[in-house]
Amino acid sequence: MGGCVNRKILLVDDDPRILASLRRSLQDRFDLYLAESGTEALAAVERDGPFAAVVSDMRMPGMSGLDLLCELRRRAPDTVRMVLSGHTDFDAAIAAVNDGAIFRFHTKPVRAEILADSLERAILRHIEIRQTRGGIDPGESLVRAAEELRQAFEHQQFRLYVQPQCRVADGTVTGAEALVRWAHPERGLLAPATFLATLDAAGLTQDLTAWMLRRACIEARRWRDAGLPPMRIAVNATALDFCAPGFPEMVRRILAEQGLAPSALELELTEGAAVADPAGARASMLNLTEQGIATSLDDFGSGYSALGWLRHLPVAKIKVDRIFIDELGDDPAAYRMLQAIVGLAGDLGMTVLAEGVETERQMELVRDAGCDYVQGYLQASPMPPEDFTVWLAGRRP
Ligand SMILES: [Mg+2]
Repeated sequence: MGGCVNRKILLVDDDPRILASLRRSLQDRFDLYLAESGTEALAAVERDGPFAAVVSDMRMPGMSGLDLLCELRRRAPDTVRMVLSGHTDFDAAIAAVNDGAIFRFHTKPVRAEILADSLERAILRHIEIRQTRGGIDPGESLVRAAEELRQAFEHQQFRLYVQPQCRVADGTVTGAEALVRWAHPERGLLAPATFLATLDAAGLTQDLTAWMLRRACIEARRWRDAGLPPMRIAVNATALDFCAPGFPEMVRRILAEQGLAPSALELELTEGAAVADPAGARASMLNLTEQGIATSLDDFGSGYSALGWLRHLPVAKIKVDRIFIDELGDDPAAYRMLQAIVGLAGDLGMTVLAEGVETERQMELVRDAGCDYVQGYLQASPMPPEDFTVWLAGRRP
């Protein structure tokens, strides 16, 4: 890189040995700064910035790498953000920091020269992009981003992906969650967390829910027409969707269009923005469950799920957030919490699905804790619907 290029790199890892080893491998090519926590890193950004790049570990006590990267996106949008993780939390990482060229992900251990080359390429590429765009960070312009999203609907750039859900007891595939990807013309396939906030700000969340419902029901009808065993397709809906007047009617209409029974569909209540009208959302959920549509509570334990509210929600299933599953095996407290959630769900007459199961060990603990269903990379990654049918056929004896 040329002499005028900013070569300041901030390395963040809670393990001092890793920091020392990174320093040894990178010090010839960059000006290095070290931080052992997210908080230290933010202080360094204020004090010693701007940095050309920040390379961070994912899992750290206190502020996680993910939170740090999100924060940096806001405070230092012009900095290349790179994740170094011993785990393959690609989805979460990409979701938090994806800006196309400005983001890189490496799995530990990574060879020093690969890391250094990757850093240089990312920095140079970022400079190039900044120059061609006249210094405008695309993430900064909400108006433009919102317009892009409107175009995405118009030009049919959203794609349905599905991730299987299986019964723990016998491995039966009980259904799949419908997920969205955005086939962005320049930035490639984007995970939802990269655009959900903009979608929300642009007032387009309900349009996406409607699109997903229709697309998911078309897929469920294909499964039925292909003679597959009965399965449910689960669609994410926020409390705001449930509050919207006419939501139950819309769901009914879409099911009817495809000639599907209500039992073919499940609605996952995700915690979106603050719930303006909890009573309205609950009434709408009751209306839907009374018709035989299953409802579940998504990402339980990760956000602000109030237990008091849970008691009054007509949900049949709790989806335990992956944060509990990630720590299983390492942290006995995580296992005990999972057991407690299973117990609580049982008392409330709800079943439990464990999200984000990635290893055999986690699977074993999820089974021991008494979870009813699983969804995660150990079973299968999210995939296009055509692949799901193939995957399903491959599983059957
Ligand atoms: Mg979900």
